[in-house]
Amino acid sequence: MSNEEKDTKITINEKEEEEYQRSCMRKISRIVVLILIGLLATCYYIFVVELCIFTVQLLEAKVTFLVIFHLLFLLCVWCYLRTVMMPPVVPPEKFRPSESDKQLYLSDERPQVLQEILIRMAKDLHIKKAVRYCTTCHVIKPDRCHHCPVCNVCILKLDHHCGFLNNCVGFSNYKFFLLAVMYGVLLCIFTSAVSLYCSILFWTHQLPNSPSKVPIIVLFSLTTFFAIMLFRLFLDHFELALRNITDREDSDNTEEFNPYNLGFSKNLREVFGNEKKYWFLPIFSSLGDGFSFPMGEATMDIEKNAAIAAKPPSESNSQLLEVKTTQKS
Ligand SMILES: [Zn+2]
Ligand SMILES: [Zn+2]
Repeated sequence: MSNEEKDTKITINEKEEEEYQRSCMRKISRIVVLILIGLLATCYYIFVVELCIFTVQLLEAKVTFLVIFHLLFLLCVWCYLRTVMMPPVVPPEKFRPSESDKQLYLSDERPQVLQEILIRMAKDLHIKKAVRYCTTCHVIKPDRCHHCPVCNVCILKLDHHCGFLNNCVGFSNYKFFLLAVMYGVLLCIFTSAVSLYCSILFWTHQLPNSPSKVPIIVLFSLTTFFAIMLFRLFLDHFELALRNITDREDSDNTEEFNPYNLGFSKNLREVFGNEKKYWFLPIFSSLGDGFSFPMGEATMDIEKNAAIAAKPPSESNSQLLEVKTTQKS
């Protein structure tokens, strides 16, 4: 067997291995999603039937608990389903190079030449950071776009691949993801507080012992655990949204300076949009197109200073003089 044939066989085996790992991860994710749905259905049954219908005696309390619970439950499930069912958004067609450019890029291995080919291919794509090429999807990656090894596609503004959702969280569903976690926290805190109140009534014998006692204590334990976990997750992601940085960019930690930071208020509007009436609803209202992003004023200042510094001293001085003259007038 020639060396070339051996190399081809190794590459095919590696691809089969990768595909096998991907399919295993997808199967595990599906099982995790089913377990989560099962837990949610169990908590729903205990709260509605065992707690509200069988245990709570006062009609006003029954109705108040059921209305608040169902409002939070519907919002949480609606946001969760939108996050899970939103297909990953890939770069638009203009980021796909022509067949000749693609062959030219793949046939060369010299880094300098590859970089030149990439810069030429990306000249009309307004990429502000380093030009990157995905050899799996064969696209030029827009800024903030990354290849997800599980979904095996490039995703716009990829945040992370979530095993609990069996889907990628990125530009198209980040708002839904944040809302699902937020409503999940509120739902768990509310359910935990009501079930704790009922548990105390059982312990202090203000409620007679009944078969509902154990399920209500189980409900309290489950919802308290999930409230703590989801609250930590929400704080982490809310802090990232406030800084306008994705989980992927944060964990890469390649740059200390974040060029997309527009200030807290504008950063949140990038995710939730400008119209306040849509902020808390699972309706897509994020700003932008997912492949071009506004840069912060600090970035523009740095770029401006770099441009001035890069010019010959005489030109830089004349520009500085111009700035001074403008300030005087
Ligand atoms: Zn890719
Ligand atoms: Zn993914």
